[in-house]
Amino acid sequence: MPQGHRFPMHKYRLLREALLHSQLISPLQLHPAPKAQETDLLRAHDEHYVMGLKHGTLTEKEVRPIGLPMGPELFQRSLVSCGGFVAATHAALEVGYSALLAGGTHHAHRNSGEGFCVFNDFAVAALKLIEERHLRRIIILDLDVHQGNGNSSILGEREDVFICSVHGERNYPFRKVPSHLDVPLPEGTTDDEYLTTLERTLKILPSGDLLLYQAGVDVLKADKLGTFHMTHAGVRERDRMVFEWTKSLGMPVAQAIGGGYSDPIEESIKAYVGTIGAAREIFSI
Ligand SMILES: [Zn+2]
Repeated sequence: MPQGHRFPMHKYRLLREALLHSQLISPLQLHPAPKAQETDLLRAHDEHYVMGLKHGTLTEKEVRPIGLPMGPELFQRSLVSCGGFVAATHAALEVGYSALLAGGTHHAHRNSGEGFCVFNDFAVAALKLIEERHLRRIIILDLDVHQGNGNSSILGEREDVFICSVHGERNYPFRKVPSHLDVPLPEGTTDDEYLTTLERTLKILPSGDLLLYQAGVDVLKADKLGTFHMTHAGVRERDRMVFEWTKSLGMPVAQAIGGGYSDPIEESIKAYVGTIGAAREIFSI
């Protein structure tokens, strides 16, 4: 990344180091992410878009909304990030819980990227699982503070996927694309308000063969791109509630870490670590 770029790319390294340092996970529990296969990308994305990224032939106008300096390195990174989530879904189906220490690229649409999202990892994984593993219903729970407009634009009309998004109503993206269930919350939402709403929401969510969980921590008050006023304890309770809910249903979980843009970034890292810690407690991983 160019120096001074506003996307905190180093957060992924910091998270891995923090998890190992805290001994929440062992090095043996970390697996390198494989690259996404082109055939998998093409279930969720148009060929023009995928090939344009691959060969660097997208126009400036097409690349600008992504907000990242596109080029061969970022293309490779995007393949690995997306492939990592696909791998996490396979692991989750085997062992019950798996997390990608990146991803949750829910603003990527079928023929365009935006908001730091190149490929839509949840859509790529969901469509692959439905086709190859014959999953009957996949639940997407998107608790990033930003609405998952890309998830909804690609999957929002499917009957074998159910998308629930709890997000800031005055946050980016300003043109929301309807999910199966949208729960917009006002600026300044606190832990209590959020957790009460989440409890009510989980009660009415359907069950499925697999939960894809976008656990964005940009709900924190310290986040530069979020509008909520949540604390670390609140985020941890959010994740605990989600994992207790899936555990009670026997539904496996594949998680992506989602957004986190706190200043300093260590606040986001602390919250991501808390999420993995909550999973570890509840699933005994
Ligand atoms: Zn976000």
